[in-house]
Amino acid sequence: MDGNTPLRPAQTIPDLVADGLTLAEDTPVLTRVAQDFRLRLTPQMRAASQLSEGIARQFVPTAAELIERPEDRFDPIGDDTHAPVPGLTHRYPDRVILHVTKTCEVYCRFCFRRETVGDTGHLPPDQLEAAIAYIARTPAIWEVILTGGDPLVLSARRIADLVARLAAIPHVGVLRLHTRVPVVAPDRITGALIAALKQHPSVWVVVHTNHADELTDDARAALARLADAGIPLLSQSVLLRGVNDSAEALEALFRALIRLRVKPYYLHHCDLARGAGHFRTTIEEGQAIMAALRGRLSGTALPTYVLDIPGGYGKVPIGPEYLAQDPQGWTVTDPNGQPHRYEDPEPR
Ligand code: SF4
Repeated sequence: MDGNTPLRPAQTIPDLVADGLTLAEDTPVLTRVAQDFRLRLTPQMRAASQLSEGIARQFVPTAAELIERPEDRFDPIGDDTHAPVPGLTHRYPDRVILHVTKTCEVYCRFCFRRETVGDTGHLPPDQLEAAIAYIARTPAIWEVILTGGDPLVLSARRIADLVARLAAIPHVGVLRLHTRVPVVAPDRITGALIAALKQHPSVWVVVHTNHADELTDDARAALARLADAGIPLLSQSVLLRGVNDSAEALEALFRALIRLRVKPYYLHHCDLARGAGHFRTTIEEGQAIMAALRGRLSGTALPTYVLDIPGGYGKVPIGPEYLAQDPQGWTVTDPNGQPHRYEDPEPR
């Protein structure tokens, strides 16, 4: 942390008032909001929010969160629909999501798990045992995804223990962690944590980041430590109105990530979380942004624009269409919007 970074997280509305991030007169209504969905900014994001609207809007509560829309859902992506044991989501045959904790370093105002994150404490030992036992007795499970909350709020010792146990299950070929920590709490990326992760021979880290301003010097250094250790890095971002809903904002983010050796992986359409409607764009707006990015960025820097179908029916690409079929063949649209004909070879 540099000399301008506050020494403690912001966890109350008065903290935000002191930082100039909210007005004192809004304290009563924002206190109601923060009672409903927990408030926390790490010292790094507390400092960065004072410099960047794109960051502040992700973490600073507003009265708009009290507005519920008819489409809002308690469990937008259907985690609970596919839970064979507590703490585990088994939606696709070959992979499971293990929710190791409900705690995060920051609480994002648009979070799709906002109804469940924020409780202190980690998955109770008996539930963790049951989840690991389920994974061990289910040979179809090839990949285990650690999420939460944020799995990297666990101590290096706990992570080492968990990773070692999963590495001992022969059919678990890949371990993936979804985390905000390298960006929002980069000092947690220590040598001990990296050594803990590397106990599995194929561990992937997917970093959640939504705006180029989040990639502070400390965050860049943390990502470099992971990349230098040989851990493959992917990113996932959420398309958020008022934060990154322009080709310019996302181009800056994806270019920065590629330079940091992080492959942009998913751009999520914002889920139907309760009180997060003000962050949602339309799918058409998202497609237009993706179409603009295709003409501006190399394929390595382009993520897939995806929607988690509400209700737990899975994730599908929803990017712009480039191909249309007719009885004579195909029309392909180039990145500049110009149509071209394409015909398949004659059947043999
Ligand atoms: S870090 Fe992830 S799980 Fe935690 S509040 Fe943000 S989006 Fe939700």
